[in-house]
Amino acid sequence: MRVLIVEDEERLAQNVASGLRQCAGYAVDVANDGESGLFMAETNEYDLLVLDLMLPELEGSALLEKYRKSGHETPVLILTARDEKQSIIRLLNAGADDYLPKPFDLGELLARAKALVRRGKGKPHPLLTVADLEINVAERIVRRGRTIVQLTPMEYRVLEYLASRTPAVVSKTELLEHLYDYNWEKFGNVIEVYISGLRRKIDCFSKSKLIHTLRGHGYALRADSDAKRDKEPAA
Ligand code: CA
Repeated sequence: MRVLIVEDEERLAQNVASGLRQCAGYAVDVANDGESGLFMAETNEYDLLVLDLMLPELEGSALLEKYRKSGHETPVLILTARDEKQSIIRLLNAGADDYLPKPFDLGELLARAKALVRRGKGKPHPLLTVADLEINVAERIVRRGRTIVQLTPMEYRVLEYLASRTPAVVSKTELLEHLYDYNWEKFGNVIEVYISGLRRKIDCFSKSKLIHTLRGHGYALRADSDAKRDKEPAA
């Protein structure tokens, strides 16, 4: 998952960024003013925006309005120093999904961020299941059947993203854009390495394969029976 933080207090932005990187395993980009925040939000693929309200160049509320007007549905979590009811109601009506008054507890921000990311993917429950594979995204624990699967942090991120989109086919570009920050193009060759690691740890010992490569299209995490549909040419 990939998050954009738009926040002009640099130290706060960096604290939130490292929390999201270390505790949620997200890729994070940071913008320190509203104009560059809007530009980044509109040109990259994000799974969540964390948006401060009082920003130089362009205010957070104006950024949110423009972002929603251009059709983006990515969840937005507002950080606000103003806790007046009116501005919060206005922001929620303008398309914000949640808000957190400053100063806030980093643990609460992480929990809200994860919940918003899940809801944004249409999967509000913290337990993602595909056949007998279980991914607890709150605790980042993976089980296949009764066995706990030990994954590297990057393998986990690839798996969580595929599970959040299951049963859809996810292209390599989509994976890269959601797993890395703005440097993503550099990492083009490593996805195959993570996929083969996941396959070894999740599928090797089981008769039913869950990780599927669809040549020329991408990857899908789903039970065999779902994957067969793709082999039939569309009518
Ligand atoms: Ca500010």
